[in-house]
This record gives sequence, C-alpha cells and structure tokens, in this order.
Amino acid sequence: MRLILLGPPGVGKGTQAKILVEQLGIPQLSTGDILRSAIAAKTPMGLAAKQVMDRGDLVSDDIVNGIVSERIDQADCAKGFILDGFPRTTPQADALGAMLEQKGLKLNAVIEITANADTLVSRVANRAKETGGIRADDNADVVRKRLDVYRELTEPLVSYYRDKGLLKTVDGMAPVEQVTAAIRHALDT
Ligand code: AMP
Repeated sequence: MRLILLGPPGVGKGTQAKILVEQLGIPQLSTGDILRSAIAAKTPMGLAAKQVMDRGDLVSDDIVNGIVSERIDQADCAKGFILDGFPRTTPQADALGAMLEQKGLKLNAVIEITANADTLVSRVANRAKETGGIRADDNADVVRKRLDVYRELTEPLVSYYRDKGLLKTVDGMAPVEQVTAAIRHALDT
C-alpha cells in the first residue's frame, strides 16, 4: 500500500501516519523528520535547510525529491509506505509520479485530511508547548506563514490528485481514533 497523507500543518498527518504504521505494517516517510535529523546531525543538507525551515518556507524540490527517491529504495519500503509531508508542490508531485513509474510502482491513494485554520494555529502552538518548543517552526507567526505556503503551493495538489481519481477526503476535526477509522474506511483496509 502506497499512500500520501495531504493536509495543512497541524492537521494530524504525523499522528495518523504513526498509527497507520502500526496498523498497516508499512513505514512512515516524513520529509520533515528526515530534514530535522539532518539538522541535528549538522550535515551539509541540514545546515542548508535549517534557515528555510525556521522561516516556514519550503526546502528546494531537488533536495526533498532526492530524499524521497533514496528512501523508497530501502528494503523496508518494499511493501509500501506512507508519505507524510511530501509532495508539497506540483513539481514534487510530478517528480514523485516519474520516480514511481521508473521504479515500476503505483500510488494507491491520497488521503486529504481537512481542518479549519484557527484550530490549526492553536494545535501547533500546543505542540510547541508539549515538546518544549523543540521545533523552531512551531511559533504562531511561522505557523501562519506555513499555512499560507500550504494554501498557495500545496493545496493545488488536492485537485491534482482528484483528477487522477486517487483523492479521498477525511475530516481531521474528529477525534484521533475516528480520523483513523475514516482513513481505513476510505482505503478499504
Ligand atoms: P513538516 O514536518 O512536514 O511540517 O515539515 C517541516 C518543514 O520542513 C516544512 O515547513 C518545510 O520547511 C520542510 N519540508 C518538509 N517537507 C517538505 C517538502 N516536501 N518540500 C519542501 N519542504 C519541506
């Protein structure tokens, strides 16, 4: 099963991805997590990405496309994977389509998780409190910026994948278990 979780920051993509990892037995592939590890390890890629991420902007398509292409070649992705936070732009979605085709793989579904903007800002602010502000991009101004970036660059992927017949939409305002159940229902699993 190869899935994309699509939705604005704070909607619960990461939370749902972790539950689905347990339930479906396939790994989560979060470009944000991989970039944060690169920052922590002070690799050249991490150092280049840090300032961009701290402002709430997107890291270049070339960097994230490379991360994903390498990651899906690893053995644990053989049975499938859950993409969380990728693709985020139309060129990334095109690149994903090309790399999957080249590897002879197909996408099963794109799950859009929806929520209203005010809830997202307060959810992400709470995440910052709970994690002791570990994520430099979880303060209110940067969250608003990330929401703007989402609307401008990522939201067009909703119609992109609807046109391909892959889009399923679930309400991310429901309790966590209900969101998971709605995703499982949409996937027929
Ligand atoms: P996330 O953990 O998915 O919210 O991502 C945190 C930050 O990492 C984003 O605000 C971007 O700066 C960067 N990032 C993660 N995934 C991508 C992506 N697919 N394209 C560009 N930047 C990304």
